[in-house]
Amino acid sequence: MPRIVDAFGRIGEENAFAVLARATALAAEGRDIINLGIGQPDFPTPPHIVEAAVKALRDGHHGYTPATGILPLREGVAADIHRRLGVSVSPEEVLIVPGGKVTMFMAILMFGEPGAEILYPDPGFPIYRSMIEFTGAKPVPVPIREENGFAFSAEETLSLITPRTRLVILNSPANPTGGVTPRAKVEKLVAGLAAHPHVAVLSDEIYGQMTYDGEEHVSLLAYPQIRDRLILLDGWSKTYAMTGWRMGYSVWPKPFYEAARKLAVNSYSCVNAAAQWAGLAALTGPQDCVREMVAEFDRRRKVVVEGLNKLPGVSCATPKGAFYAFPNISRTGWKAKALASALLEEAGVAVIGGPDFGVHGEGFIRLSYANSTENILKALERMGDFLASHKAA
Ligand code: PLP
Repeated sequence: MPRIVDAFGRIGEENAFAVLARATALAAEGRDIINLGIGQPDFPTPPHIVEAAVKALRDGHHGYTPATGILPLREGVAADIHRRLGVSVSPEEVLIVPGGKVTMFMAILMFGEPGAEILYPDPGFPIYRSMIEFTGAKPVPVPIREENGFAFSAEETLSLITPRTRLVILNSPANPTGGVTPRAKVEKLVAGLAAHPHVAVLSDEIYGQMTYDGEEHVSLLAYPQIRDRLILLDGWSKTYAMTGWRMGYSVWPKPFYEAARKLAVNSYSCVNAAAQWAGLAALTGPQDCVREMVAEFDRRRKVVVEGLNKLPGVSCATPKGAFYAFPNISRTGWKAKALASALLEEAGVAVIGGPDFGVHGEGFIRLSYANSTENILKALERMGDFLASHKAA
């Protein structure tokens, strides 16, 4: 029997996809399932973006593009970053990739190896840890705490850096907590990093345009002190409701850019040409679609937080960004994964257990409010009935 390499014994995955599969299977059996599990906008991609892809196909954009992405799109990304963040980026630093995930894949491959340490948020997007383990590097979790409003702690992050640390992964606005790290903490971290010039930074800002209550998104890109070692991860999936298009981009310092380009050439060659033209239409077209979507998420956020706080044993901090609520369920007596599983099987509500995002996620579940207000209200009612009538397993 041929044997695959040991690294595949260490690679993980995203349980949100397993929950989605189970929810879909239950629905196929005729069960009425409300899915608050998967992290994708429930809106269709805005029509002008879809039209741009159709036009690109009709216009004959059927071939390979440069591995780094078509120049107009890289210019479009640079202009968009300048418009939103006031930061100058050269199109030569921008890499178009098939989805936000690909940037973390590349960055972790670039800095992870046996003997290396990589810091990542816990609870956090599960692929960070999975890929760190795959490379043989040591995953070093940085606890993300409810009492800090789910912002990362600059002090704690800096205290975990050693001479072996090669990469620090940051994510704000955050999945799964909805936490947004305020400017003062970002600045403290940036200042502290001056003492650790051997450490690269991957800033996952895929929810950067989804903040609420006037909360500002502070991009790490705005700090010239770390630009020579900062990798920015962003993309179209969440901002423009384009998860299935597989469109992401990253900004890299020159020496790492070359390595990333080679990874592209060695794997996917280039991103789907028509999707790239659609991505350009998204950036250069009207932005009301983004504002409207965020305003709708904001309305649902209030509904979900208010409803969760009325459930027995549940308390939910108000998320400041992304489209997730991360309620504390420890006073229900349930373990988080057991509760998530029981809610799906018995109450028909799909949520994700906090431990699927790391050990510090115990005591919490994640709800995505990328679903209609009507469904959210129905889900909250079902959760309330369930908690009132079932003892912790
Ligand atoms: N980063 C975070 C924090 C996410 O939550 C996600 C998707 O859920 C991604 C990256 C990946 O996005 P994409 O679907 O574009 O690969």
